[in-house]
Amino acid sequence: MAIKLPIYLDNHATTPADPRVVDAMLPYFTEKFGNSASRNHAFGWAAEEAVEIARAQIAKLINASPKEIIFTSGATESNNLAIKGVAEMYREKGNHIITQVTEHKAVLDTCKRLEKYGYEVTYLPVQKDGRINLDDLRKAITPKTILISIMYANNEIGVVQPIEEIGKIAKEKGVFFHVDGVQAAGKIPVDVQRDGIDLLSISAHKIYGPKGVGALYVRRKNPRVQLSAIIDGGGHERGMRSGTLNVTGIIGLGKACELCQQEMAEETAKLSRLRDRLKEGIMSKLDECYINGSMEHRLPHNINISFAFVEGESLLMGINDIAVSSGSACTSATLEPSYVLKALGVGEDLAHTSIRFGIGRFNTEEEVDYVVGRVVETVNRLRELSPLYEMAKEGVDISKMKWTAAGE
Ligand SMILES: *Cc1c(COP(=O)(O)O)cnc(C)c1O
Repeated sequence: MAIKLPIYLDNHATTPADPRVVDAMLPYFTEKFGNSASRNHAFGWAAEEAVEIARAQIAKLINASPKEIIFTSGATESNNLAIKGVAEMYREKGNHIITQVTEHKAVLDTCKRLEKYGYEVTYLPVQKDGRINLDDLRKAITPKTILISIMYANNEIGVVQPIEEIGKIAKEKGVFFHVDGVQAAGKIPVDVQRDGIDLLSISAHKIYGPKGVGALYVRRKNPRVQLSAIIDGGGHERGMRSGTLNVTGIIGLGKACELCQQEMAEETAKLSRLRDRLKEGIMSKLDECYINGSMEHRLPHNINISFAFVEGESLLMGINDIAVSSGSACTSATLEPSYVLKALGVGEDLAHTSIRFGIGRFNTEEEVDYVVGRVVETVNRLRELSPLYEMAKEGVDISKMKWTAAGE
C-alpha cells in the first residue's frame, strides 16, 4: 500500500479521534442533545445516563470509583483545579508545594502563580535520566508541605517517574499527591490505589478522544481530598467544577478510556515494536545520535533523539513530510532550547537538534520505515555539508577549539 504523506508522528501533542469514539458521541449532538443537569424530562435523563457511563469507564481505567471523577475542559484545567484547589483549601495547614522542573507548563505556571500569592514552591531537579531523586523529595518535605505534584510520564522524553515510590513517601508524610497523568493513563497501567495517588489529571485528546475535555480524579477516602473550586456557578460536579457538562466530549473521553483499557496490552506490544524499529533503524545507520532520557523507564511509544552536527531547523525542513516536534520552542521570536532537555543536562546544540517521535495507534510499519529512511538521508546530507562533522571524524576535539570571528 502506498504511504500517505505527511506522516503523523506527534502523538504526544494530540491524537486523532478513534472512529469508534466519534460514533459513540454522534447521537448526543442531535437526537439525544439533553442537558445532563435537567432533572425533569427524558432528554436530561438520557444525557445524564451517558455521562455516568463515561464516569465509570474513566474510573475503571485508573482503578477509582466513578464518584471520584470530576469533568473539566482538559488537563490544563485539571492541573489548575488540583493545585489551586488544594492550595486554597488547605492554606491553614501550610503553604508549601513540591513539584519538579520537567513538568508541563500547566503545572509549572500554576505553581508560579501561587508563588505570587505567598505560597512557597520547591522545584526538584531531575537526574540525567529524567527522573527525580527520591532522597531529594524526602528532604524537601517540611511540616508546611501540603502537596506534591509530579507527572506520571513526560510529554517530551516519555520518561516515567517512580510514581509508586513517591506515593508511598507522600502517604508516610501525610501530604497530598497530585499526578499529571496525561501521557500515561490509557498507555501504561495507572492505578490510583497501587500508586497512592490522591489527584490525577487526564485529557481526552491525548488518548484518541476529542479536544477540550478532560477529568480530574479526586480521592474520596484514605484520605478524603477537598478542593476549593476555581470556577463558581451552579455547583456541578460536587461543587468542584460548575458549568453545564460537555456531554458529547465526556462520552468521547469515556469511550476512549474504555478502548485504551481493553486494548492496552496489545497496543503497547505493537507501539513498542514500532518504536524500537524506529530507534534501531536510526541508531544503526547513523553515528553521533543521542537518546534523551531513560530507556528503561519510558513510555512504549516515545523516543527522543538528538542528532549532533546538524542544524535543527535544517533537519526539520529536510523531513517536512513527517510531523514531529523538535527540542526548540519558539518563545517570543527567539529559538529557546527545550527546558526539559536542559534539565537533563543536554547542551544547547544537542537540544536544538533533538526530535521527539511519538508513535500512535494508527501508525504502521511502512510509515516507520519511511521515516527511518528520510531521517537517515537528511542527516547524512546535512553532515556532508558540515566541516565540524568532518573534523570530528578526523579526531579533532571540537570542544577544545578556539573560535575567532572572520577578519580578526
Ligand atoms: C497535553 C498535556 C497537558 C495539557 O492537556 P490539555 O488537555 O491539552 O489542556 C498537560 N500535561 C501534559 C503532560 C500534557 O502532555
